[in-house]
Amino acid sequence: MAHDVIIAGGGFGGLYAARRLERRLPRHSARIVLVSDVNFLLYTPLLPGAASGSLEPRHVVVPLREELEWTEIMLARVESADPAMRDLRVRTIDGREETLRYDQLIVALGSVSRVMPVPGLAEHAIGFKTLADAIALRNRALLNLEIAESLPDDESRREYLTFVFVGAGYAGLEGIAELQDFVTDVIERYPRCRLAGTRFILVEARDRVMSEIPASLAEFASRELRGRGMEIRTSTMLETMDARSATLSTGERIPARTVCWTAGVKPPPVVGRLGLSLDESGRIEVDSTMRVKGRENVWAIGDAAAVPDPAMRRRQASPPTAQHAIRQGRRVGENVAAALRGRRTKRFRYRTLGVFVDMGQHQAVAHMLGVPLRGFPAWFAARTYHLTMMPGMARRVRLALDWSVGLFFGRASAELGQLGHPAALEHETHEEPSER
Ligand SMILES: Cc1cc2nc3c(=O)[nH]c(=O)nc-3n(C[C@H](O)[C@H](O)[C@H](O)COP(=O)(O)OP(=O)(O)OC[C@H]3O[C@@H](n4cnc5c(N)ncnc54)[C@H](O)[C@@H]3O)c2cc1C
Repeated sequence: MAHDVIIAGGGFGGLYAARRLERRLPRHSARIVLVSDVNFLLYTPLLPGAASGSLEPRHVVVPLREELEWTEIMLARVESADPAMRDLRVRTIDGREETLRYDQLIVALGSVSRVMPVPGLAEHAIGFKTLADAIALRNRALLNLEIAESLPDDESRREYLTFVFVGAGYAGLEGIAELQDFVTDVIERYPRCRLAGTRFILVEARDRVMSEIPASLAEFASRELRGRGMEIRTSTMLETMDARSATLSTGERIPARTVCWTAGVKPPPVVGRLGLSLDESGRIEVDSTMRVKGRENVWAIGDAAAVPDPAMRRRQASPPTAQHAIRQGRRVGENVAAALRGRRTKRFRYRTLGVFVDMGQHQAVAHMLGVPLRGFPAWFAARTYHLTMMPGMARRVRLALDWSVGLFFGRASAELGQLGHPAALEHETHEEPSER
């Protein structure tokens, strides 16, 4: 009898788990179903490129059906689970509720932005986690330029030309650097805005940017960004915000129409409805083989799981990175295949290969296999790394072409917020001919 293996989530962890299972299990021996709310993997390290228009949005995603051979893809939202009954409850995109039975379940549901209780934040800030966030940010920047250009004086332009990013990890640092690069590129076409000038402010609660990389590299990154005119406020928090301003813990009030929130992630709320044991940060508790605590046939990986990191002292949880999710996906694929055959499962072992922070303009910082790199060599290494990690030759070529075109021809400045939102068709009104 074929085994039912369900993978919840089709991001880095889920896709790589499915690929490994397809390789390890004979086709007739299992039915693999991957449930995801979107039909692609978002290659997040390239999201800043999509937000800044240097990469075509379709080129930073990997359609699941193109990468998987015989896994069934189910476009649905996971809503809850009952591990005692081996049930996963989902709602399909057309609104049907379905209950899926499993022999083995892999949870790879990723994370969502960790929104703090800052007054005004949820209503007015933009996140930087999804493709929709990235495109919204690009469109917002362009709309701001259009509005600012039409205003009568520099004072009223100011709030439209100020961009605040809160959180100086990967996403914040790369996001603000790429956005500034983009605005600098297109502002030539907005003469009043160019004269008024822009402001880019990066706010970080810790005492330095990028706690993930060595202090010397973080210092280089800060110097590089300051050299481009960016303001960096460390040991500072966002205290409150509204549609037109952000107020910091220092008391400074910044007139700004755009605040991007990049201050950390947490597991999505659905993780709390799966009947699984969670740690204090809300991640699923697993052992070093990624089997969920107290559940023989449930596994969890990626950002949603607290997988003990063999590289960390005292076995802290692995950091929420794509590098870890990919390796956990492959290992959990092996382990689930082994469990189905009654063989021994193995521990997750992985030492981070490196960290790259691409700041655009041919500048980056990197820490590769213990070697610190900065400037152009780091930038080149970062781009080469992403080219090799992006699945599929055609996608790699598209990325390389996008980057090359951007180098020679600059970026497009059309604001395409209407994409995907067509106007409703209107009934033809039949007007009576007026009497003469
Ligand atoms: C802007 C940005 C830049 C980053 N840069 C880097 C980098 O340079 N290097 C690096 O290593 N990491 C980077 N990361 C982190 C990396 O993206 C994550 O660690 C990685 O995506 C985690 O993989 P995952 O499989 O756990 O989750 P994901 O890849 O997020 O996949 C989760 C999947 O589950 C789906 N899903 C969620 N909820 C449901 C539901 N209820 N029902 C069905 N499907 C659901 C989601 O749509 C998604 O497809 C970056 C993250 C961001 C936001």
